[in-house]
Amino acid sequence: MFGMLCLRAVNPSNPCMQKTDHSPIADHYDVAIIGGGPVGMALSLALNDTGIRCLLLEARGVPEKDEDPRPLALSHGSQLILNRLGAWQRLTSNTPITEIHISNRSSLGQTLLTPQDAGVLALGYVVNYHDLFCSIHAQLLGSTADYLAGATVTQLETDSHGGTVTFDYQGNTQQVSAKLLVLADGGKLAKQLQGIEYHEHDYQQWAVVANIKAEQRQTGVAYERFTPDGPVALLPNLDDFALVWTVSPIEAKTITALDESTFLARLHQHFGDRLGKFIGAGKRSAFPLQLKYAVSSAQRVALIGNAAQTLHPVAGQGFNLGLRDAFELAQEVIAAQRQGRAIGMPHMLEKYQQKRRLDSSAVRIFTDSLIKLFSNDNPLLKHACGLGLIALDSTPPLKRFVARRMIFGARG
Ligand SMILES: Cc1cc2nc3c(=O)[nH]c(=O)nc-3n(C[C@H](O)[C@H](O)[C@H](O)COP(=O)(O)OP(=O)(O)OC[C@H]3O[C@@H](n4cnc5c(N)ncnc54)[C@H](O)[C@@H]3O)c2cc1C
Repeated sequence: MFGMLCLRAVNPSNPCMQKTDHSPIADHYDVAIIGGGPVGMALSLALNDTGIRCLLLEARGVPEKDEDPRPLALSHGSQLILNRLGAWQRLTSNTPITEIHISNRSSLGQTLLTPQDAGVLALGYVVNYHDLFCSIHAQLLGSTADYLAGATVTQLETDSHGGTVTFDYQGNTQQVSAKLLVLADGGKLAKQLQGIEYHEHDYQQWAVVANIKAEQRQTGVAYERFTPDGPVALLPNLDDFALVWTVSPIEAKTITALDESTFLARLHQHFGDRLGKFIGAGKRSAFPLQLKYAVSSAQRVALIGNAAQTLHPVAGQGFNLGLRDAFELAQEVIAAQRQGRAIGMPHMLEKYQQKRRLDSSAVRIFTDSLIKLFSNDNPLLKHACGLGLIALDSTPPLKRFVARRMIFGARG
């Protein structure tokens, strides 16, 4: 209501540097987005300059200072969306994935996915999460979007006419109303709203991430190796590799605390000799892993990104899916506006959910099944998984099906 909007100009030499000047935000919007992570920012950009009045609220005061170390494998489809939003062009670096090598420890099966299998130029790109965040953020700051950082949303209310958002900003409690509330906060606030329920499953696994140097330099191949303890991925990242190593919660604590050479030896033992010895490791960080997805919704509310579904990172699909949520929601909001229909009405939300249902459930079932099938010690299942990989490798139409769905989602 009486909040101060940060209109920011970007310092071109460093996309994360900014100067801020202030002007008041409005009392009422068409769309209020809660959560300025990469997905919330993408939606804000997709709605910018469309005539739709949209406000983005982010809890962190200086979000670009948080150096999240996770690597992200972006699909070719995500690259196309980010390009349209103007954020891809701001990325300082990315590493193309030219092949995906999938194997199963202690069974014979393996498969290799290539761009030709999917009929595209590149299978995807590895980017540093922080770089991606900064590039979308810089694009947002350079736009005319209404964006308030340092605004922690504390309360949400909706009825059939719209929603009200209460937030703390610079020590004051403030409110805005909107026709549609979009939750892009990772899913923490949804439980306040009557009607929204989640299915949740703790995988009892953590992902340990780090930059890794191997005797062999990366050649564009992304390695995904399944083991009974969970998958381990080594993604090409500039000259080196980005590691995503799934382990039990206890093991995560142990291996992040190991000295570098013991850690590298342990990784070599786990991953095998495909890249020679590992000779260097950057800072290690660990993330708890869960499956969480909304099974119902509330009036005047749309969920996107991790607030709609949080997945295991095994196939690198969470952000790719979230970006498609944002893009398709923007299309629905813009269509409603152009056709003179009210934004956030049940018909519009039902259409959005219907469009997303197939994509979201297909990716969720795919990633969850990979974990359930491959992360086990059952000799029969291990054998079946090995046979499955051999079948995938020798059946081009099946390969094309899998590769295109990893790149474009259900529409692949
Ligand atoms: C180890 C690991 C590897 C991964 N690898 C891949 C990959 O290779 N490819 C891929 O596609 N995905 C990957 N993912 C998934 C991906 O990281 C997430 O899907 C993505 O970051 C979700 O973005 P988001 O914007 O929806 O949510 P978040 O990044 O969780 O952002 C939520 C935002 O909301 C803000 N917020 C929270 N509460 C409030 C509040 N009360 N008020 C205001 N703001 C609030 C937060 O500050 C934050 O900025 C990986 C995940 C992990 C853990």
